[in-house]
Amino acid sequence: MSKPSADKTQVYFKRFINGVKKRNPGEREFHQAVSEVAETIFPYIADKPIYHKMQILERMAEPDRVVMFRVPWTDEEGNIRNQRGYRVQFNNSIGPYKGGLRFHPSVNLSVLKFLGFEQTFKNSLTGLPMGGAKGGSDFNPKGKSDIEVMRFCQSFMTELHRHIGEDTDIPAGDIGVGAREIGYLFGQYKRIENRFVGVLTGKGMEFGGSKIRTEATGYGAVYFMQNMLEYKGDDMRGKTVAVSGSGNVATYAVEKVNHLGGKVVTLSDSSGFIHDPDGINTEKLDFVLDLKNVRRGRISEYVDKFKGSSFHEGRPWGVACDIAVPCATQNEINREDAEVLVKNGCMGVSEGANMPTDLEGIHVFQSAGILYAPSKAANAGGVAVSGLEMSQNSARISWAEVELEKLLKDIMLKIHDSCVEYGKKGDHVDYLAGANIAGFIKVADAMLAYGHT
Ligand code: NDP
Repeated sequence: MSKPSADKTQVYFKRFINGVKKRNPGEREFHQAVSEVAETIFPYIADKPIYHKMQILERMAEPDRVVMFRVPWTDEEGNIRNQRGYRVQFNNSIGPYKGGLRFHPSVNLSVLKFLGFEQTFKNSLTGLPMGGAKGGSDFNPKGKSDIEVMRFCQSFMTELHRHIGEDTDIPAGDIGVGAREIGYLFGQYKRIENRFVGVLTGKGMEFGGSKIRTEATGYGAVYFMQNMLEYKGDDMRGKTVAVSGSGNVATYAVEKVNHLGGKVVTLSDSSGFIHDPDGINTEKLDFVLDLKNVRRGRISEYVDKFKGSSFHEGRPWGVACDIAVPCATQNEINREDAEVLVKNGCMGVSEGANMPTDLEGIHVFQSAGILYAPSKAANAGGVAVSGLEMSQNSARISWAEVELEKLLKDIMLKIHDSCVEYGKKGDHVDYLAGANIAGFIKVADAMLAYGHT
C-alpha cells in the first residue's frame, strides 16, 4: 500500500485523539500520554492497514479493566479515614500485568491510566514478558506514623489481593511506596492467601527481594544517557548534571552519575531544590539517603549541613547543566523550563520520572536537536529488574549483584539499540519515536495474533 499523505495521517491522528478525549472526559494526563504515543505511531502505521483494520491503537488506549475500591483505616487518634484505592490492568498481551503502586494525594484515574498506558510500552521495550498496569491511592504517607501506614497498607491489600497473583498481576513500588510499604503489603497478602509467592516486587532481601532492584531505575536512566552519549562518541565524564527529586530514582541516579565521572549539582522535593556547585559526592548522598529514608525529612535540610550549597523554591531547571535527569514526577518540565535548559547549554535529557516533560517541552528538545530519552525507555531499568525478581522468585533462587547489574546494563543497551533501529532519521536519532514504535510492535503483533479479543 502506498503511504497516505502527511495531511491525511494528521486527520486520522486528530480523529483518534478526539475520540480518546470524548471517551475519557477530563483525564488530562491520560490524553497527554496517548497523544505523545499516537503522534509517532500514526505515521509509522500509515502504510500498514492491518493495524487500522484491527483497531489496534484504539484497543491499546482502553484498559482491559479498572478496579476501584474503598480503603478505610483508623488513624492514631481513633478517627476513621476513607481513601480510594485503584488498580488499572491495562494490557496483558505479552505477559501478566506489571506496574507500580503510587500513594500520593494527586492520584486519580487519569494519572493511573496514563501510567498504565505508558507501562505497557515500557514493559514491552525491556524484552521481558510483562504486560502493563498501575495502581495506588490518594493516601499520603507523608507525616503519617509507621502504624498508620501499616494500617492503611493492610486495608488496601485486603481488597487488592483478590485482583492480583504471581501469574496475573504483580504490583511494585512507585511514589510514596518504598521498602516499608511493600513489606506491609506483602505481609498482608501472605496472611490472607496463606501462600508465599512473588506477587509483589521491590521486596526486602529477607523475603524474596532482588539485589539491585532499589537502584535499578536511577542506574538505568544514567546508563541510558551514557549509551546515547557513547553513540555520539562522548561520555559522562566531566558533565554537570541537574537531577530533580530526592527519592528512590533520584538518589541512585546521583550514585551512578558519580560512578561514571559526572557531577550532580541539584536535588529537589515538592518544597524546592538545593544547588550544590561542588557536587553531591558519596558522603553528601549518604546524608540524603538517611534524610529521606530514615528520618523522612525535607531536602532543604541539606544546606544546613553542607557549606556552599543553597536552597531555592521551584524547580532546578534554571541551574546551568550539560545533562538533566528529571526524577520527581509528571509534567515537571514545561515549555519555559525546556527553553531555559536548552539556552543554558543542556545537551541531553534522560527521564527517570514518568512523563516529566510535557508535550510542548518535548517539542522544544526535539527542535533543538538535543539527546532526549523518553521515560518509557530511560526508566525501564526498574521494571526490568522487577521482571528478574519475578524469575528468581519462580525458580526460588537468588542471583548475585554483579550478575544482575550486568543484566540491567545489557537490557538498557538493548532498549537504546531498539530506539536507534526505529528512530534513526539520517544522522539524528528520534528516541521518542524509536521507543514508541519498538514498544508498540510487540504488543500490537501479539494482539493481532489473538484475533478479536
Ligand atoms: P519517591 O517517592 O521515592 O520520590 C519522589 C520524589 O519526587 C520525592 O523527592 C518527592 O518530593 C518528589 N515529588 C513527588 N511529587 C512531586 C511533585 N508533585 N512536585 C515536586 N516534587 C515531587 O518516588 P520514586 O523515586 O520511586 O519515583 C519518582 C518518579 O520515578 C515517579 O515519576 C515514578 O513514577 C518514576 N518511576 C519510579 C520507579 C521506581 O522504581 N521507583 C520506576 C519507574 C519510574 P516530596 O517528598 O516532597 O513529595
